[in-house]
Amino acid sequence: MKRKLAAGNWKMHGTNASLTEIAALVTAHPAPGADILLCPPATLLARAAVLAADSAVMIGAQDCHAAASGAHTGDISAPMLADAGATAVILGHSERRENHSETNELISEKAHSAHAAGLTTVICLGETLAQREAAQTLEIIATDLHASLPDSATAANTVLAYEPVWAIGTGLTPTEAQIAEIHGLIRSLLSERLGETEAAALRLLYGGSVKPGNAAGIFGIANVDGALVGGASLKAADFSPIINALEATA
Ligand code: PEP
Repeated sequence: MKRKLAAGNWKMHGTNASLTEIAALVTAHPAPGADILLCPPATLLARAAVLAADSAVMIGAQDCHAAASGAHTGDISAPMLADAGATAVILGHSERRENHSETNELISEKAHSAHAAGLTTVICLGETLAQREAAQTLEIIATDLHASLPDSATAANTVLAYEPVWAIGTGLTPTEAQIAEIHGLIRSLLSERLGETEAAALRLLYGGSVKPGNAAGIFGIANVDGALVGGASLKAADFSPIINALEATA
């Protein structure tokens, strides 16, 4: 039975003081009916992992280098993330694609390296507003999906997040029909790539301005198996009702 997933991306937010939010989340969800993954900045990973040990909250990272080790000043490898206590890593977030010029090919290499280190990958893809307005959304999704997914991807080690770039941090969300269309497309593309059984088992998250107020509606859409949440994952008081809404659909 596929477990739904609520994943939080803290981006470049959080210091030692923010660990109280993770503690609050651990306390609020002792036996959740959905998986919970929180991805704090790398500086907090080890402390967060200790805090969440033996709890239902999993700790993940926000990026990794494609190599396992080497002369890459400032970078962090997948085995290092696993060593720090992470069990997952977000890859290909639009902020990394845009701010760090990450290509699908690089994301695929990173994902392969993360799988080799035993990490689950949350691979993000989504169109910009200009691409949607130019009616290129379906083509972009198909291209990015095929090129960023490594051959090592399975339903057990990979989660996909559809994140329209124009919905991230803007308060804008696609219509339910638009989300259903893209998630349906991703599911059928996955079927061609991985076969029907694996495709059905692989979790598809929606991401982009998910809040306590719109979560239940989004989780009711076909082929939505959870959410990747940015701003509303920073405070347990906001993230908890989103998790509760997901549990209600599980
Ligand atoms: C994100 O960064 O992945 C995201 C979805 O952000 P927000 O929820 O703030 O739109």
